[in-house]
Amino acid sequence: MADKLNWPVFTLTSGPVDAYPAVLRGLGRTVSYDFDPAFQLFYENVAKKAKKAMGLKNAPVILHGEPVLGLEAAAASLIAEDDVVLNLASGVYGKGFGYWAKRYCADLHEVEVPYNEAIDPADVAKALKKRPETRIVSLCHHDTPSGTINPAEEIGAIVAKHGAYLITDAVSSFGGMKIDALSSHSDIFVTGPNKCLGGVPGLTLLGVSERAWKKMKKNPKAPRASMLSILDWQDAHRHDRPFPFTPSVSEINGLDAALDVYLEEGPEAVWQRHALTAKACRAGVKAMGLELWAAREEIASPTTTAVKTPKGVDEEKLRAAARSLYGVTFSSGRGETLGKLTRIGHMGPTAHPIYSTIAISALGGALNALGRKTNTGAGVEAVLATIGKKI
Ligand SMILES: *Cc1c(COP(=O)(O)O)cnc(C)c1O
Repeated sequence: MADKLNWPVFTLTSGPVDAYPAVLRGLGRTVSYDFDPAFQLFYENVAKKAKKAMGLKNAPVILHGEPVLGLEAAAASLIAEDDVVLNLASGVYGKGFGYWAKRYCADLHEVEVPYNEAIDPADVAKALKKRPETRIVSLCHHDTPSGTINPAEEIGAIVAKHGAYLITDAVSSFGGMKIDALSSHSDIFVTGPNKCLGGVPGLTLLGVSERAWKKMKKNPKAPRASMLSILDWQDAHRHDRPFPFTPSVSEINGLDAALDVYLEEGPEAVWQRHALTAKACRAGVKAMGLELWAAREEIASPTTTAVKTPKGVDEEKLRAAARSLYGVTFSSGRGETLGKLTRIGHMGPTAHPIYSTIAISALGGALNALGRKTNTGAGVEAVLATIGKKI
């Protein structure tokens, strides 16, 4: 059967992504018993590495499910019934967080912009002025189904000045560009290994501020003895068992390796190759006569390039052609952006500029195969010229 599965040659998606070879080797480590002192020490060391990588004051909480778990847990734990929440939506994920938030509070207001745009910090300031009782703000830094970046640091400064708490979804930006909990004034900063860190889906990393811990402890509805609990993990080591439940041992092995790759290469170098890969890809897209989805290039993500589907082209058929002709997998849009764009991921091991020649070749070739004449050669030339120039 295995030979009939027809695996892709290149997975150029926006997550899950191709994992680094070192991560795959890490996953091959034996599975330790979670009560074993050696495993507990190893776990603490992985948390320390994550703290360093994330630039946190305290070790992050590691939750044992892919980052949707962390996002839902953040909503359930931090938001109290009487909180007024401001949700910022510039895409499907930002909007989606609002639905969780609504489950835990009675009063939610939103700033929403078209899904090819970014949130304007001035609009956040206005919304807070209009509703000064707002206690929690939620932001998706990189709304992946749109490939657009929000100005998290500027927004965070406004939220901090107001005295509200900020929950930031940095799942698909952390590790691929400069973003961290402290500089974005985030009280809960959510990320995971399966995007720019080139790891595998199965864990959430949560940076939690001191005041967020206090607020969660005061929230009578914050989950306890639950998969959604963040509180259970703070003092995990002080109880009669080392963890609230069996951690995902293999995922921790993989995370350890992903963090080593990131820290050994150096965050700045990793961000630089993400930025250059995306810049080269955007140059290729434009040179082929295609359009970027992002309304302005300044807000286009360094970790994902979203390409507007040309008129008359069936987006699903376009990805299917790239997959069947070349073995290249791209991501589709999601929700509102589904069918309107194709996403090329630049995350972890695929955030090397030469992958953009592959992406542009497969995209142009697939369009030609569907009868939409595209100058693929010009696209590839533009990618190579951009790589040559550096940034
Ligand atoms: C990938 C991602 C998540 C995790 O969600 P999945 O849809 O389960 O992959 C959350 N937020 C953002 C912004 C993401 O890119």
